[in-house]
Amino acid sequence: MQIIKAASEIHNFSLKCRSNFLKIGFVPTMGALHKGHLSLIAAAKSENDQTVCSIFVNPSQFNEAADFEKYPRQLDTDLKLLEEAGVDVAFIPDVTEVYPHPDRKNYDLGKVAAIIEGAHRPGHFNGVASVVKRFFEIIRPHRAYFGLKDYQQYLIIRNLVKNYALDIEIVGCPILRENSGLAMSSRNQLLSADGRQVASQLSETLVKTKSAAADHGAAELEKRGLDLLKAKEGVDVEYFLIVDADTLKTNPDSKSNRIALLAARVEGVRLIDNMFLDK
Ligand code: AMP
Repeated sequence: MQIIKAASEIHNFSLKCRSNFLKIGFVPTMGALHKGHLSLIAAAKSENDQTVCSIFVNPSQFNEAADFEKYPRQLDTDLKLLEEAGVDVAFIPDVTEVYPHPDRKNYDLGKVAAIIEGAHRPGHFNGVASVVKRFFEIIRPHRAYFGLKDYQQYLIIRNLVKNYALDIEIVGCPILRENSGLAMSSRNQLLSADGRQVASQLSETLVKTKSAAADHGAAELEKRGLDLLKAKEGVDVEYFLIVDADTLKTNPDSKSNRIALLAARVEGVRLIDNMFLDK
């Protein structure tokens, strides 16, 4: 596995691959890798000739300085995991390589960027778009892999590619969960054993919502879900929403194409999760 830190070097790697007609699969991450990340890498490996995985904790997508500071970092362990997973290139740039000049652009990410996570975390999606677009320009992958765990982010990256006419296929990969149902996340490392137990109530609520979905509309499902979450000690709910999976808007009469989205804090750690309700 090559470890590359310089933007110019990964750009040259990409040019070489492209001149040899090799397809590049790209998996962007912020490190503290878990099986969810490794599933994206496995998908990239199965569909491309070369797999690049980046580890970069992007400051511009954190809307709280304390969250950026405490984000888990474990570069040596991560590099071992990437090597074992058969990644061809680990791209681990410094901030100055990614942002040689500060990026002050406001990206056009469509209506879905302004609501839900966009409203709760001002600037977050613009920061995500800024780093992903920069990586896409440097690495020029054929395909890029994103987890459906960050469902709204996945929709926004699809909009980024469409609105800026980037010639990259975006592949969405299913959520990997712990045996308890808890969606795997780097942030789970910040939870105590008790906290993890409490956090498994989030996915439990999603499962219960899904089992009731055929019989109820959005308002009733949201009420039931919120009641369940609020009854759990240690869960501080930010939102629990039933929305259309394409527009992320509520449609009270619909019983198709719905997704339940939630954000909650457990032990001060902000967790998100989601589940499709009608498939
Ligand atoms: P992160 O390092 O948290 O920025 O995540 C990097 C990529 O891994 C994103 O596309 C995430 O959606 C994806 N990812 C994170 N957790 C999971 C999971 N439990 N299952 C599948 N993909 C995930």
